[in-house]
Amino acid sequence: MRFHIRRDDTVQVLIGKDRGKSGKVIRMLKEDQRALVQGVNFVKKHHRRKSQDQPGGILQQESPMHLSNLMLICPGCKKPSKTGIQILKDGSRTRFCKACRQVIE
Ligand SMILES: [Zn+2]
Repeated sequence: MRFHIRRDDTVQVLIGKDRGKSGKVIRMLKEDQRALVQGVNFVKKHHRRKSQDQPGGILQQESPMHLSNLMLICPGCKKPSKTGIQILKDGSRTRFCKACRQVIE
């Protein structure tokens, strides 16, 4: 399955408390159609104390966001953009920005 967003893309959040924020995709969770975005969608997680050196408590951690809530920021026009798929002469598929026609790899 192919998605409009890939790892290492810079994306913008469309909804939720982090709406308007942007960050880099650090991990794709393809089965869930979610992506982990750096610095976005922090949730508090409770950690139990494991040892003397690692105290328990509340830790802030990024939580994966559904891909439909994310939009790719085009490296060409630097705006959140809709992408299309272009099929090249050699048969490979590449994404392009529908706003500025820049090919995005
Ligand atoms: Zn563009």
